[in-house]
Amino acid sequence: MRTVRALQRLRGVLSQSFSSSSAEKPMPGNSMLRHLTSKIKATGPISVAEYMREVLTNPVMGYYVQNDMLGPDGDFITSPEISQIFGELLGIWCLSEWMGAGKPSRFQLVEFGPGRGSLANDILRVFSQLRGALGGAAVSVHLVEVSPKLSQVQAQCLTGDQSQVSASEDEPVYRHGTTTTGLPISWYRNLDDVPRGFSIYLAHEFFDALPIHKFQGTEKGWREVMVDIDPDEPGKLRLVIVPAPTLASTQLIQADEKRRHVEVCPEGGVIVQRLANRITEDGGAALIADYGHDGTKMDTFRGFKGHKLHDVLASPGSADLTADVDYSYLRRMAGATVACMGPVSQKDFLKNMGIDTRLQVLLRNCADPSTRAQLIQGYDMLTNPLKMGERFQFFTMLNHTPLPVAGFSELGLS
Ligand code: SAH
Repeated sequence: MRTVRALQRLRGVLSQSFSSSSAEKPMPGNSMLRHLTSKIKATGPISVAEYMREVLTNPVMGYYVQNDMLGPDGDFITSPEISQIFGELLGIWCLSEWMGAGKPSRFQLVEFGPGRGSLANDILRVFSQLRGALGGAAVSVHLVEVSPKLSQVQAQCLTGDQSQVSASEDEPVYRHGTTTTGLPISWYRNLDDVPRGFSIYLAHEFFDALPIHKFQGTEKGWREVMVDIDPDEPGKLRLVIVPAPTLASTQLIQADEKRRHVEVCPEGGVIVQRLANRITEDGGAALIADYGHDGTKMDTFRGFKGHKLHDVLASPGSADLTADVDYSYLRRMAGATVACMGPVSQKDFLKNMGIDTRLQVLLRNCADPSTRAQLIQGYDMLTNPLKMGERFQFFTMLNHTPLPVAGFSELGLS
């Protein structure tokens, strides 16, 4: 057990839940605000999607591009950062799907938005420990990451210093190397650059960072909510409902939509379509885990800074922006060629994957009282319905329907 990492991760985190203040960090907010206001002055209000895309992933000043925002000293904390058990169980899930597919000889693990690399690291440790079960399969690791800063952190975590940056910035593979467990690993900016072949795709807290459009139902029909300059305070931004329909408001709303306010993430839809296509043609499965709902929630767009809620329009670029994932939309975009399951709650998924047994094994092998307490606290944080147990949801896309699927019902390894 990686006690040191577990202790570092847990230090101060579990007691603060999602809210404690962080130290001041360099604020790209002002230059981002200037950039956005000059854009709006030039072409009029921008969609919330464009606002989110600029704020989060602008190549020069984007929030993700600039920062390592994860963990106790950052803006938010995620399940893989809380407990090693999370990644270990997802590692078992990957193996179980690979086995269920008839143990193909080539096996790509593809992760979207790997953050600090902790989830992949825990999964790769499981693969290494269960090398026998993997037989001679050629396993490779592929990370889709927009942030040069975080790709460095991931490379350090997963390869030590065994990775190189590609010679040209335009290369589809912008970094590559060998993991500490001896597997080839590559970094890409887009899914399209990841080689085809049997793959298990993982996306943990990735889809919630993709840009959403926001729409309001009005007496005149659906109208898009956009970001404009506040006429009373020109240094501030505000949300406005634009009077005329936009291309997005005419294209993205379902005819039978019952809600009065809707958020749609077309970029997420496109990724899911591409995943469905790959899974159908090459085999494999995708597991998406995020804050989410099944087409029921309305206004979920929010900011996080220093583990506290933060006004989405205030000092843009200095805080994380996120919106709950609409799984009903992803299911619709996945189409009929793949089988979709879920969403199921994180609590149910992890229990089905055997989290209780795994916790008992770790506790049995651990004498240190403070580490034991932290293991139990981590378990509680992940599974307690009042903490992360219910708010996080798991959803899968598969190219087969022979049920049961691990996590969505109890795990059975054959
Ligand atoms: N999965 C990690 C990190 C979640 S934060 C965890 O759970 O701890 C979101 C991650 O997605 C970051 O690594 C961020 O840089 C990456 N990301 C955000 N938007 C992206 C995009 N459009 N393309 C690729 N990666 C993106």
